[in-house]
Amino acid sequence: MSEEPALWIKDPLAILADGAERGIVLRGNRIVELVPTGRTANTPDAKVFEAGEHVVLPGLINTHHHFYQTLTRAVPAALDRELFPWLDALYPIWARLTPDALDLGVTLAMAELILSGCTTTTDHHYVFPGGLEDSVDIEVAAARRLGLRVLLTRGSMNLSQRDGGLPPDSVVQDEDAILADSERVVTRHHEAGEGAMVQIALAPCSPFSVTTSLMQKTAALAARLGVRLHTHLAETEDENRFCQEKYNCRPLDYLEDCGWLDDRVWLAHGIHFNDTEIKRLARAGTTISHCPCSNQTLASGTCPVCAMEEAGVGIGLGVDGSASNDGSNLMQEVRAAFLLQRSRYGVKRVSHTDALRWATKGSAACTGRSDIGEIAVGKMADLALFKLDEPRFSGAGDPLAALVLCGAHRADRVMVGGRWIVEGGEIPGLDLPALIRRHSAAALRLQSGH
Ligand SMILES: [Zn+2]
Repeated sequence: MSEEPALWIKDPLAILADGAERGIVLRGNRIVELVPTGRTANTPDAKVFEAGEHVVLPGLINTHHHFYQTLTRAVPAALDRELFPWLDALYPIWARLTPDALDLGVTLAMAELILSGCTTTTDHHYVFPGGLEDSVDIEVAAARRLGLRVLLTRGSMNLSQRDGGLPPDSVVQDEDAILADSERVVTRHHEAGEGAMVQIALAPCSPFSVTTSLMQKTAALAARLGVRLHTHLAETEDENRFCQEKYNCRPLDYLEDCGWLDDRVWLAHGIHFNDTEIKRLARAGTTISHCPCSNQTLASGTCPVCAMEEAGVGIGLGVDGSASNDGSNLMQEVRAAFLLQRSRYGVKRVSHTDALRWATKGSAACTGRSDIGEIAVGKMADLALFKLDEPRFSGAGDPLAALVLCGAHRADRVMVGGRWIVEGGEIPGLDLPALIRRHSAAALRLQSGH
């Protein structure tokens, strides 16, 4: 018998798993047993955690974010703008990012996510002004401190205004530097296989901020290194026009020309695809990160989630960057996705369980992982436990539905790989008020330029 201790999470108020009415047993970092109605756990040495006040979900998985943007929330100059003018307002501020500010921005974003029930997150970091060469390393260190599972991307921009792109010259890097650093961070940090805590993917920012050559070479590098690929695509009509004018094709055609249309790729947004393009995505196994809050804030449009799922395209959820959300609460994103997609497709095609599935199993597919996103034997012990003890839940009937319909926003307990990283609604070892003070000061410095 294994020497690792076992834990029975016993008699939950509700759990998002069939045949686990009396709970689940964990050993080490994995789920080893589901306990059905009328049975007791078969694991004799399991300690017991009484979960009678908890609704248990698989840990939520965030498939799109820009952590550094927690430093530029609700910036006055960017209010009430659509994507391209919104970026124009923010690029000069982001160009002033420093390593200390990034560390605070990343730590705060991760804390927000964790407290909302997130156990795995991606991040898309694509601004590398001078002095920020170690951005991904800073992110890896923060994830390890907090015990959060991550798929961090080495993002990039190399098509600036001087070459017909959108970003100013000061925030882009040259192709050789990007490719060399991409290989460095994968070699240094990427863990392959089940149970990985840190993985790396490569992520040129978007068709309007990266050259064709960099798109192609990044795809080739990802294939050689065995890592995933991510970018923004089909977010706005502006992007359609840009691709038509610069490349004489639509964004998905451009993606395919760059060697990107395959199952190694997950795309943020995917709003403006037509029916033929949706079929091509399904055939290729390319998945989509749906970001409902960001899409509504920037008035980008509504991702056709049901049409895509029915065609066979995998859908995950992302909070997107905190400059366009402007929060990093993944449980609130579940509710936002539920409301937005239900208003589009109606009560027969969208239920609260669909929205929970997008944030768990659907998001796991975006990250290319089969060991997370579900409560099942052999999967990682990544869990989010919510209490229904706030006024918003009082008198609720179905506990799982209540999480989505009444607006759950803070987990009471969160576990990653068998280890509690949130207890009693707090992150042990993290002085959250001090972090908020330092983060707020850094954000104001960045925004004011002093
Ligand atoms: Zn984004």
